[in-house]
Amino acid sequence: TYVVTDNCIACKYTDCVEVCPVDCFYEGENMLVIHPDECIDCGVCEPECPADAIRPDTEPDLDHWVTFNRKYAELW
Ligand code: SF4
Repeated sequence: TYVVTDNCIACKYTDCVEVCPVDCFYEGENMLVIHPDECIDCGVCEPECPADAIRPDTEPDLDHWVTFNRKYAELW
């Protein structure tokens, strides 16, 4: 799955939301998050993000953001 990271904070672009084929972006308090159970791992959003905030969760040191994305996505 992909995760949204801190570069998204206060970003006003929603390019990622528009390209996601399964609509799995959700609003957090001050940034977007990806629902990890809905993301189909297509990778389409990553290059579309103007803030370079979207990462595959296989990258190192993303534990905080993996937890964060799930927490806020599951509030919906
Ligand atoms: Fe949506 Fe694909 Fe990005 Fe997952 S990787 S959030 S399915 S666009």
